[in-house]
Amino acid sequence: MSRIEQIKTGTDNCYLVSEGKNAILVDTCSAAGLEKVLAACSSYDMKLIVITHPHFDHAENAYELSKRLGIPVAMNKADIGIFDSYDSQPLIARGIVGRVVLWLSLKVLRNTKVRRPENLIFVKEGDSLEAYGIDGQIIELPGHTKGSIGVVIGDGDVIVGDQMDNWIRPSEGHLYADKKDLENSMEKLRSLGERTAYYGHGKPTKINTSR
Ligand SMILES: [Zn+2]
Repeated sequence: MSRIEQIKTGTDNCYLVSEGKNAILVDTCSAAGLEKVLAACSSYDMKLIVITHPHFDHAENAYELSKRLGIPVAMNKADIGIFDSYDSQPLIARGIVGRVVLWLSLKVLRNTKVRRPENLIFVKEGDSLEAYGIDGQIIELPGHTKGSIGVVIGDGDVIVGDQMDNWIRPSEGHLYADKKDLENSMEKLRSLGERTAYYGHGKPTKINTSR
C-alpha cells in the first residue's frame, strides 16, 4: 500500500508517494523549497515527478529536480503553453478568498519563468504509475487549468492539485481557468466517494463524507 507524505514549504504543498524504497514526487513547490524537497527525496529511490499543472508554486523546481535526480517529469500536454506564458490560461477568482489569493500571487504567476523540464512525458486519464513502483493512476481534473491532473493512490486517496484547496475550509478551487470544467471535475471527485484529499494549499481532509 502506497504512503503519502506531505512536504510543506510556505503555503505550498507537494507530496512524496512511496511504496517501500520507491517513490514519486507529486508537484515540486516553488524555488524557495528546493532544498527541503530534495532532502525529503533523499531517503528514497525516486522514479518520477508528476506536476498537477505548471504554475510556479507546483512546478518551479521540476526542471532542477528532474536533472539532479535523473528522472522524468509527467504532466498533461494541454498545459504545455503555460511554460511560455501564464497568460495562455489566465485565472479567474472566486469570492473574496479567491480575489485575495489572486491579488497576492498574480505578479509572481506572471513574472516567474517556470523552466520546462528537459525530460518531459505526457500522461492522461487512467495512466498507471505501476511502472514507477506505485499503485496509483492519473486522474484528469480540468478547471484550474485545462490540463490539471491529480493522482489517485490505490483505490483510495487522491492528490488534487489546485482543483480543490483548503485555504480556510476544503472547497473547489478558488482560482480557475474554466468554471464549467472546474464544476465537472468536482462531480468527478464526488463520484469517487469518501476518501482523503491532498491539496496544493492547506491541510489534507476527508471529502465526500455523508453527513
Ligand atoms: Zn495553480
